[in-house]
Amino acid sequence: MNDTQTRRDFLRTGSIAGIGAIGVAGGLSTASAQRSASGVVGSPDAAVSIASGNGLQAVDRAVKRIRDGSDPVLGIVEGVGIVEADPNDMTVGYGGLPNERGVVQLDSSVMHGPTHKAGSVACIENIMHPAAVALKVLQTTDHVMIVGKGAYEFARAHGFPHEELLTERAREAWLRWKYKQSDRDDWLDPDQRDWDPAGEKVGLSVGDAGMEEPIPFTYGTIHCAAVNTSGDVSACTTTSGLSYKIPGRVGDSPIVGAGMYVDNEIGSAGATGRGEAVIQSCGSFAIVQAMGTGMSPTEACLHVLGQIVKNSKRQKRLMRDAKRPNFNVIVYALRKDGEHGSAAMFPGARYAVADGQGARHEPCASLFD
Ligand code: ASP
Repeated sequence: MNDTQTRRDFLRTGSIAGIGAIGVAGGLSTASAQRSASGVVGSPDAAVSIASGNGLQAVDRAVKRIRDGSDPVLGIVEGVGIVEADPNDMTVGYGGLPNERGVVQLDSSVMHGPTHKAGSVACIENIMHPAAVALKVLQTTDHVMIVGKGAYEFARAHGFPHEELLTERAREAWLRWKYKQSDRDDWLDPDQRDWDPAGEKVGLSVGDAGMEEPIPFTYGTIHCAAVNTSGDVSACTTTSGLSYKIPGRVGDSPIVGAGMYVDNEIGSAGATGRGEAVIQSCGSFAIVQAMGTGMSPTEACLHVLGQIVKNSKRQKRLMRDAKRPNFNVIVYALRKDGEHGSAAMFPGARYAVADGQGARHEPCASLFD
């Protein structure tokens, strides 16, 4: 029996017995084989969680919660909550970079494999934990997605506090961006001023006195997924989205099938990076489908990045040259048996993993050198 057939068999049976059999007989993957060989399959230690590179604490927390008996969906939402509350991560939750009007608008989605239910919020303001709100949508409503004011009111009704999410650091970064936008508006950039930012008169030609370079448009997000010893998979993605976006812009993170997706018979996938590109190729759904045909998680990630590049070639402004895009997307995949992978457009990225061997970073594969 070859590796691909074995994986297909696994995907059909999807049982714990199947996991053990493949790990031993199929020589499927290092991770799966290790889990079987060390006898951990079926023990709580066999839980696996993966996340984007900023999710080391999240995967650690998720696996601990699963070992304590929590459903994976609760573990990952609690895990990403650590990053949502961290003001130093300017891509997620509190401290996230705002939209072009200086308002922090957050997006998140959560999916629970065993019930195939999803919950999502988009453009939610003044709520620090959008992933927990998305989970409430999943748990307490017959809806999937609630946006804007409705999402805020839904969160407040469930006891989430109203909070100012714009930190001083993010506000200053936004202001620097705003000043630099154009020399044909009334916001004077440093080269046009007679005064330094502290209000002291410095004369003409002040250069960039007191002004750091503006942070350009940035992407950044946390995706986190986990599987327990029953092979039950859940996934979650949460973000402040593209910095300085047009108010109301929705990225891929809250869109089921784009920023994350779970099929409990196969596994999960998630994405960070240029959300528009991920949405237009249904990125996470496509990765899970590719794993369903027998590709390994890493193969499936690379395959879908290739599709994203192929689709992006139709818009020349998105290409650095004939082959390579001028943006990055990083994708993550976790298979039901605990094997995982991640790939980025370009080398150097890493993702977070926690399992029986602890929490660590692993390198992402890359589509281009
Ligand atoms: N994908 C997110 C978005 O487009 C941002 C990111 O992951 O960097 O909103």
